[in-house]
Amino acid sequence: MNGPTPKDLRGGIDLGGTKIQTVIADAGGQVFGEARHPTPTEGGPDDVARAMEDALREAASAAGVKPEALAGVGVGAPGDADGRTGVVSGARNLPGWEGSFPLGETLAKALGAEVRIGNDVQVAVEGEYSLGAGKPYESLLGVWWGTGVGGGIILDGKPWLGRGAAGEIGHTVVKRGGARCPCGRRGCLEAYAGRAAMEAKARREHAAGVETDLFKIMEKRGRDRLTSSVWEHALREKDPLTESLIRRAIRYLGTGIASACNLLDVEAVVIGGGLGVRFGERYAAEIEREMGKHVFVADDPPKMHIAELGDLGGAIGASLLVSN
Ligand SMILES: [Zn+2]
Repeated sequence: MNGPTPKDLRGGIDLGGTKIQTVIADAGGQVFGEARHPTPTEGGPDDVARAMEDALREAASAAGVKPEALAGVGVGAPGDADGRTGVVSGARNLPGWEGSFPLGETLAKALGAEVRIGNDVQVAVEGEYSLGAGKPYESLLGVWWGTGVGGGIILDGKPWLGRGAAGEIGHTVVKRGGARCPCGRRGCLEAYAGRAAMEAKARREHAAGVETDLFKIMEKRGRDRLTSSVWEHALREKDPLTESLIRRAIRYLGTGIASACNLLDVEAVVIGGGLGVRFGERYAAEIEREMGKHVFVADDPPKMHIAELGDLGGAIGASLLVSN
C-alpha cells in the first residue's frame, strides 16, 4: 500500500458544545478516517474526555491505524485552552467545566499519543489559512459564527494570539449598553449574532406572544435547542421572527467585522462556524453590504470568503497542531 504510514498520520479533535468531531489526517489535511459523537450534556470533564477518546479511536479504526502509532493528536477546545500546559479552563458550554481540567495530559494517557491543545476557533482559522479559503493570503480575520461568535487572526503569515486570548471579535462592542451577552456584559457582537443569544431572544419574543414556527420545528426534529438546522428550516419557511433575528445578526456582524478590519487592515475575512458555513454563501453579500457602511478603506475592502474545509475543518485544523 502506498498510503501514508501511521507516523505521517495525526489525529484531530474538534470539541464543540454539541458534538465531538474527530479525524485522522495527513500533514496536507487529507482525511483517512473520521467519527462524530455527541458531546456529553451531563457529568464533567472526565466524561467529555472519555467521549473524545472513544470518537478518536473510532476514527483511527476507520483509518486502520492505532492511536499510539499516530504522530500525535491535536485538540481544538473551547474556553481558555493553554497550549503549553494542555489545561482547558472555563469551557462554559461543556458540562461541569467551569474550572480547570488537564485535558492534554488526560487524553495523552488514554490514547498513548502525544496531545496538543489549542483554542477551537484559532485552530480552525489556521486550518483555513493553511489548507482552505485563506491560502492566498498572508493576513486574515476568521469569524466563526455559531453558538457564540469566535475569531482568529493571522498577521504576516503567523497566528496572532495576543497574550492568549486574541481574536474575541464576538465580545467587541457593537452597541454601548446594548443587549446582554452570554459573557455577562452588554452590547457585544455575540449578544446579537451568537446562536445561543439568538435563541434566548427568540424564546423571550415567543413567551411575549410573538408568533413563530421556530419551536415547533425544533420539537418536530426532536431537539431541545435551536440548532443551525432548525434555523435553516425556519428560514426556508419564511418564518418572520427567524428572518428578522438573522437579519439583525447580519447587521451587527457587518458592523463588528468592519470595525475589526479598520483596525487590522487584513487582506481577507473568512466566515466559518455552524451558522457561518450554513448561511455564509446565502448572506455573504449582505454581510459585505453592512460592512460597506463602516469600512474605512471603502474602495478596497478585504476579500470575503466562506470557510472551505466544511464540517471537518475544526478537526483538520486541530490535527495541524501536531508538527512533523
Ligand atoms: Zn460578550
